[in-house]
Amino acid sequence: MLGKGILKGLVETARNFFGSYAEKERLTTVQFPEERLVQPEAARVFPFLLYDTDDAEKGLRCVACKICEVECPPKCITIEKSTEKKPDYAGNYAGKPQFYPAKFSIDVSVCMSCQICVEVCPFDAIKMDTAFELSTDDRFGGLLWEKDRLTKSNEYYHLIHPTEAAEVDAQLAGKKAKAEAKPAAAAATTGAAAAR
Ligand code: SF4
Ligand code: SF4
Repeated sequence: MLGKGILKGLVETARNFFGSYAEKERLTTVQFPEERLVQPEAARVFPFLLYDTDDAEKGLRCVACKICEVECPPKCITIEKSTEKKPDYAGNYAGKPQFYPAKFSIDVSVCMSCQICVEVCPFDAIKMDTAFELSTDDRFGGLLWEKDRLTKSNEYYHLIHPTEAAEVDAQLAGKKAKAEAKPAAAAATTGAAAAR
């Protein structure tokens, strides 16, 4: 019958409209900005830089390897590598000092939220945020986010992506344990050799 599809669509719309007064799950809208939906764990909007401990500078995981800068398809990441190394403050790098980004910026107006920077980072130093209210009336610089605005704590990461953050923590703990076990094993081998 002609128009059967349209009728079916209208019936479904009516069912949802009237049903939304009785069933909460049929109400798919909220009174934004007074009300906000909790972002699902899988939400991905814009990258941020992770730091451990309570010090954003010292605990920053990024070692300025620039892999994300090279791999970012629209080239919206700009990194300036430090000239000196900083101590392994959070113990992520087996106690070895690392370079860090003296400057790290992302152009929000260019980023296409592809998450490639996250996929390629070997140090779990960059992750996707769920915050989506990024508009600004500052045309000059408002959308170019520098390091101080990009850095967020591991606690925040756990808040927005709890499952993923727990997995990353477990992997890092495994790497740490492996790195700590190495000198102990070497010392044991040396001791055994000396005893022979
Ligand atoms: S999400 Fe994609 S476009 Fe945005 S900074 Fe990362 S790699 Fe670049
Ligand atoms: S965020 Fe990761 S991939 Fe990008 S420069 Fe830092 S350590 Fe390297």
